[in-house]
Amino acid sequence: MAKQYDVIIIGSGPAGYTAAIYASRANLSVLMFQGYQVGGQLMVTSDVENYPGFEEGILGPPMMEKFEVQARRFGTEMIPEDVTAIDFSQRPFRLTTDSGEYLARTIIISTGASAKWLGLPSEQRLQGRGVSACATCDGFFFKGKDVAVIGGGDTAMEEANFLTRYANHVTVIHRRDSLRASKIMQDRAFRNPKISFMWETDVTEVLGDDAITGLLLRNVKTGEESVLPVQGLFLAIGHEPNTGLFKGVIDMDQKGYIVPVEYTMTNIPGVFAAGDVTDHRYRQAVTAAGDGCRAAIDLERWLESQGEDVGVENWN
Ligand code: NAP
Repeated sequence: MAKQYDVIIIGSGPAGYTAAIYASRANLSVLMFQGYQVGGQLMVTSDVENYPGFEEGILGPPMMEKFEVQARRFGTEMIPEDVTAIDFSQRPFRLTTDSGEYLARTIIISTGASAKWLGLPSEQRLQGRGVSACATCDGFFFKGKDVAVIGGGDTAMEEANFLTRYANHVTVIHRRDSLRASKIMQDRAFRNPKISFMWETDVTEVLGDDAITGLLLRNVKTGEESVLPVQGLFLAIGHEPNTGLFKGVIDMDQKGYIVPVEYTMTNIPGVFAAGDVTDHRYRQAVTAAGDGCRAAIDLERWLESQGEDVGVENWN
């Protein structure tokens, strides 16, 4: 028999935990599937200095632990598993995980987004051995080294500038001849004497056995190949939302971000979305947390508008 909850939250970043705190305090029965990678993107972030209330800053992992403890305090149940399937065809919704089936009167999707990778086997093999998608997490390890950043957007400029605090030199490798980044970010990077640019260039291979020794590059116009010796590679080619499970059912934009239709509610009544899974613009812990709060309040009001009792844990 599947256990039924007023709300099941999928994802354990700031949006999910904040929704859990609000929904639990509203006396709803709440289960969160935290995913096998509990805590979301902040688990691979170092100092968080812009989340209000932590005046000295806080590291990402202990911050997420605090979110979790706070949600547990109000009764949120948590299971560190991924949801593998959802039947959205009728309420209660039926969710499947490795441990069984669960029923939800409402769902909050807060599955976040993930950094994009080039998809090269050598890139995957050397992840954590010089290949990273987070300069703020790993920049410290590249003191005095030569590193490369791939991408031409704001993230690439931000990461390149940040890395110059540690690295000897940063080469930005971009596939086109102009940047997508905002003017101010471009100017900052152009002015930085430790940053140089390689235009119209693709990385076709990450070289090295146990650690990076260089990159195999290809000029996209001439096809000419070259090797750039570096000890670090940072990917800054954007993020993609973790929405594979909802494709074809929940309304999304072209990039796969969920597009809510009524405040935070999606096109499926009773299914809400919050955080980076709906947001490619702000992508901040504090905006995601705000979103989680909105989703929980919307959900509570929606349940009330349906004339359904809330706060009662049912068995089906
Ligand atoms: P983005 O704007 O989508 O830029 C991604 C960059 O990576 C683009 O230059 C793109 O090239 C390149 N790229 C994508 N796929 C690639 C591939 N397979 N191989 C090589 N290059 C590839 O992503 P973002 O820089 O992460 O920014 C996302 C959003 O956050 C933006 O709205 C941005 O303004 C915002 N943001 C703001 C700040 C800030 O203001 N402080 C900081 C960071 C991010 P093309 O240009 O050729 O498409």
